[in-house]
Amino acid sequence: MASSVYELENLLERRAAWSRLGLTVGLVPTMGALHAGHLSLIGKAKAVADRVVVSIYINPKQFAPGEDQESYPRDAENDCAQALAAGADLVWLCPPDSIYPKDWATSVIPSGVGLGLESNHRPHFFTGVATVVARLFALLKPQFAVFGEKDFQQLKVVEQLNRDLCFGVTIIAAPLVRGVDCLALSSRNRNLSSEQRERALAVPRSLQVACSAYAEGERSTQVLCQLGRSVLSDSGIAVDYFELVKSSDLQPAPRELSGDDTDLRLMVAALCGTVRLIDNCALDTPPCP
Ligand code: AMP
Repeated sequence: MASSVYELENLLERRAAWSRLGLTVGLVPTMGALHAGHLSLIGKAKAVADRVVVSIYINPKQFAPGEDQESYPRDAENDCAQALAAGADLVWLCPPDSIYPKDWATSVIPSGVGLGLESNHRPHFFTGVATVVARLFALLKPQFAVFGEKDFQQLKVVEQLNRDLCFGVTIIAAPLVRGVDCLALSSRNRNLSSEQRERALAVPRSLQVACSAYAEGERSTQVLCQLGRSVLSDSGIAVDYFELVKSSDLQPAPRELSGDDTDLRLMVAALCGTVRLIDNCALDTPPCP
């Protein structure tokens, strides 16, 4: 029966019952305020796992003081209804003490793909993500977990941690879902005013402009990134980074491209007012139709 749980004991009981029946479990970790991007992850999980658990937890360890933990959108009732309608078997509404016990004293600190890009601006962030994902994996022991390419660096960090710590979870990457206006869906979009939302369209446009220039023959990484940054600054959006990296290891792209650049990804993070937006796309696959 599809339902929601708050208590860890209830979650683990349900998990044990599924194990006894030989059923596999897919986990979709989220911070709530669900949208169609999250629901697509549930669909991916359902395609491979017998039972799907959606966790909803605003993980305090991935926010620094002064970041938007307090104003992060919360909508638990609606989240449960949406997740269950999308096919989740269980929504795990995690109270803080169900994830980290009082005497918790361990952190998972990723390096490698966790360095650069986001971590230059949010140095605490991937330690928070890796620690909570390790904890969720250890508690639920899912066979599958789905993560969105919207958070491309996070996906890479999770793949690495899963390998390094031998969790044996099959990590499934889900494509980034955009709105009709091409803006990447994000829970934080709820905190944009209508004027900011209009301006935020410069984020996908910055990717589009760089992709188009590449398609038209521009081969200088510096020029491509500068084009993207200019789109953002012309719209009054503060750029944290706009970089071209190799998709496989997130190392910087060569300064001069060859024209056969199938493994390259544009990564952007920018502030629209106080709302931080991230987006990305493959260099040879423009984000907007
Ligand atoms: P969040 O609730 O923002 O922490 O995201 C939970 C999961 O949903 C992460 O794996 C995200 O990458 C994924 N996600 C968030 N937004 C999107 C989107 N627009 N398209 C695809 N996946 C997404």
